[in-house]
Amino acid sequence: MPLYETHVGMECHAELLTESKMFCGCRNEFGGEPNTRTCPVCLGLPGSLPVFNKKAIEHVVRTALALNCTISLHSVFHRKNYFYPDLPKGYQISQYGNTPIGVNGWLEIEKPDGTTKKIHITRVHLEEDTGKLIHSDGAGYSVVDYNRSSVPLMEIVTAFPPDIESAEEARLYAETLRSILIYLGVSDGKMEQGSLRAEPNPSVRPVGSDTFGTKTELKNLNSFRSVQRGIEYEAQRQIEVIESGGRVTQETRGWDDEKGISFSQRSKEVEQEYRYFPEPDLIPLEFDPEWLESLRAELPELPNAKKRRLMEQYGLPATDAAQLVLERETADYFEQAARGVKDTKAVANWMLGDLARLANASGLAIHAAPIPPAALAEMVGLIESGAMTGKIAKTVIEEMFATGKSAPQVVQEKGLTVSGADEVAGIVAKVVAANPDVVAKIKAGNDKSIGFLVGQVMKESKGRAKPDDVNRLLREEMDKL
Ligand SMILES: [Zn+2]
Repeated sequence: MPLYETHVGMECHAELLTESKMFCGCRNEFGGEPNTRTCPVCLGLPGSLPVFNKKAIEHVVRTALALNCTISLHSVFHRKNYFYPDLPKGYQISQYGNTPIGVNGWLEIEKPDGTTKKIHITRVHLEEDTGKLIHSDGAGYSVVDYNRSSVPLMEIVTAFPPDIESAEEARLYAETLRSILIYLGVSDGKMEQGSLRAEPNPSVRPVGSDTFGTKTELKNLNSFRSVQRGIEYEAQRQIEVIESGGRVTQETRGWDDEKGISFSQRSKEVEQEYRYFPEPDLIPLEFDPEWLESLRAELPELPNAKKRRLMEQYGLPATDAAQLVLERETADYFEQAARGVKDTKAVANWMLGDLARLANASGLAIHAAPIPPAALAEMVGLIESGAMTGKIAKTVIEEMFATGKSAPQVVQEKGLTVSGADEVAGIVAKVVAANPDVVAKIKAGNDKSIGFLVGQVMKESKGRAKPDDVNRLLREEMDKL
């Protein structure tokens, strides 16, 4: 059997975060009683006229800039004509041809081995979403909800030939894109609610072949995990079709996450004729270069840049920085907590270790934990100053999380202060007296045995003594003998 290689093109759709819909004043919000957020424009009633939502255009321009695209100064909208019950007008307003808002961009993914790869993007354009069909299971009818009709939708398409060469790279691409959209504040990125949809087009070909295989399009992938699983499954299925002498059919396939299989939905053998033509009710968009530059200047720091800065500014390892920048608020939390703390690496460790564990168990994001950044900084400060050991801090942070109290408060109330010098000296004397044979060994030159005595003292003091002090006090005590 020849070896096969996989190529994946990606089409992603993101519903834009705007107050109102694309061409009317209806509220743009997920959910709601069916058909309560509609008007003559988004229901496509005759005589109604669309009016642009400037915010939606701005969101697409900002995304295109963040994705390193060239912005078309002159951008046109088209009617994509087809009949389907979720499309009341009988056409979708979209952008077709060579004047989408953004063209020829790229984003960079980082692979688990630390290498990066540029994924080229061919277009970023604006269109409107359709309504939503809800099918009755087996009862033979469907109902339609037009609340989603005409919600502003952005489409981002990767370039051909595809740069993505595995299911994992496709997942990383989707994750990176989602993170950029969230940083920009243009999308909530909720794949499970369908406000961000990833539609991969995988194809396979024998290694060495110079023509691409027939691709299929995958739909209903509701998580990053299903993006990866769906492509892995589909590539394997295509290989099996070819190996058994068959031919891969160009079609749209749905993904059944529970069964872990894809299934044929709609054949695409014949290219559908959409009779595109320029939308006569909307004037073309003309962008002022100065406006574009002002939007570019105001772009926030994006995840990759933030990651590099955190590594440089705070001396964090790449893996920690990558985890911290996944959500903008988590990175902000870190930077607030790191203020005034010398050991910034420790702040990241506590956040990604104990705090993340406690937050996860409560279903919270790190930045939403009931420990404000300043309180975590104060806790790390107590360890730095020697007022508390790291071991005690593990108990303290749990109590802080559960009660919302500060580290000094918890230490005070629970009597977790580091043992006083006198107390530790007392314990040391006791341990030395109780272990004459170990002391004799040490005095005979077996220095390693001191570890046993240190352990005994730590146990007696319940972890509240500092190991350095214990070591010193033990030697002083033995010198007396
Ligand atoms: Zn409306």
